[in-house]
Amino acid sequence: MCTCGESYDVDADEDLPTKDYICNECENKFKGLGKNVKCPSCKSKNVTEK
Ligand SMILES: [Zn+2]
Repeated sequence: MCTCGESYDVDADEDLPTKDYICNECENKFKGLGKNVKCPSCKSKNVTEK
């Protein structure tokens, strides 16, 4: 097998710093990203980082 040429070993998955959150309004569990995390279910910002 010819392996000449570019051979990048790049993973498509970016290592995003997601964290687990629980919404205090509807107890929805979700993964949040960034600082202003909102519950995707009820749009509340009243969430707790787990
Ligand atoms: Zn919620």
